[in-house]
Amino acid sequence: MRTFHKYLIIGSGVSGYHAFEKLHESNQDVVMITNDKEIPYDRPPLSKEYMRGEIDRSSLFFKPYEAYGGKVILGVMVERLQNSIAFLNNGDEIEFEKALIATGGSPRKLDLKGEKVRYLRTLEDADNIKRLASTAKTALIVGAGFIGMEVASSLTKLGIKVDVVEVKPYIWSTFVDERVSRYFQGYFEKRGVNFILNESVKGVEEREKIRVYLSDGRELVKDFVLIATGIAPNVEVAEKSGIATRNGILVNERLETNQTNVYASGDVANIEVKGKRRRIEHWNNAMYTGELAARNMMGSEENYDFLSTVWSDIFDLHIESAGETSGYDEYVVKGDMSKDSFSVIYVKDKAAIGYVAVNRPEEELDRLNSMVKDGASIKD
Ligand SMILES: Cc1cc2nc3c(=O)[nH]c(=O)nc-3n(C[C@H](O)[C@H](O)[C@H](O)COP(=O)(O)OP(=O)(O)OC[C@H]3O[C@@H](n4cnc5c(N)ncnc54)[C@H](O)[C@@H]3O)c2cc1C
Repeated sequence: MRTFHKYLIIGSGVSGYHAFEKLHESNQDVVMITNDKEIPYDRPPLSKEYMRGEIDRSSLFFKPYEAYGGKVILGVMVERLQNSIAFLNNGDEIEFEKALIATGGSPRKLDLKGEKVRYLRTLEDADNIKRLASTAKTALIVGAGFIGMEVASSLTKLGIKVDVVEVKPYIWSTFVDERVSRYFQGYFEKRGVNFILNESVKGVEEREKIRVYLSDGRELVKDFVLIATGIAPNVEVAEKSGIATRNGILVNERLETNQTNVYASGDVANIEVKGKRRRIEHWNNAMYTGELAARNMMGSEENYDFLSTVWSDIFDLHIESAGETSGYDEYVVKGDMSKDSFSVIYVKDKAAIGYVAVNRPEEELDRLNSMVKDGASIKD
């Protein structure tokens, strides 16, 4: 069956959802197609409050099904776009004037298979991990990035003994420099998390428990394993549609792809801003770009102009960060690491390029964001 909708949104993550909302609010003819089985929901709580059972499932959904007015189609994959027609995996076709690809990312898979080897991206993933955690005493997390660290904190709070294997010499290395990383490592260790650094997993064997083989020959026996080694952008639709990709879907400052009337936003978009390309995997950027894409699809001509901030919550720490936390010449520390309340400002050519702040007040975060956005000069 072929139907027509003026606007097509592919993907129901935070980016697709916010694009949909902008168009829907403006009374536009819009439809959202997602291969997720659930109506749009929020991902950050999946590794935090939801994993720990502090909030219930219903609070994750942005709004109830009825509020979409029948304009969200669940459990269906868009396979490709051709001549302003989307071809779906259920055989249907949607003709559109403008489309947004907001297909996000999927966990990078390791060649380790088993019922008790899990990944975390979707609500279904989180439910499966919660089920395993409900009877587990021990868990192994592979990868000390955002998801790995947040789940390590949540499982420890649930009374599970957690080990984390990380191939790099220090944890959270995509996020912070070595000095701040050592602080976080100490903070986790004090709460019982064990890190195995410079190490990787080469195999698993699943029986009642799961036996994990490390590269150095060690064997660990755990109740379950979470693999959290980052995501890869979901570029399949773009590739099959002849849209340019390279580490994501290539878009300009208005979020336009190289195909007329097709836009991309969120984690999947590799955006060129002032001559530099960046693909950002954070909530605030996904929301901002979803809304920006919707405005531009409706005829606005706005360029990307946003300082993407990111937050995380582990144990009693609320962490915020923005800008670059690598490639700096020097850094300035404010506050006191030993009291778990500090910010580190990264400086290059005497200008603030980024920061990481732990348990700092709102006013300081606002100041830090302005400094980084304006590239404020830092005096000696
Ligand atoms: C557990 C977890 C915790 C997080 N915590 C934080 C945090 O504390 N702070 C922070 O800044 N960020 C956090 N993030 C990251 C943040 O959630 C992402 O940046 C955000 O979800 C990206 O949104 P998106 O809409 O671009 O993509 P996604 O959320 O990945 O959504 C993509 C959607 O597209 C659908 N899709 C894909 N391909 C197709 C297709 N061909 N056809 C139809 N549908 C398709 C998918 O099913 C999905 O619905 C977290 C992520 C996770 C998983």
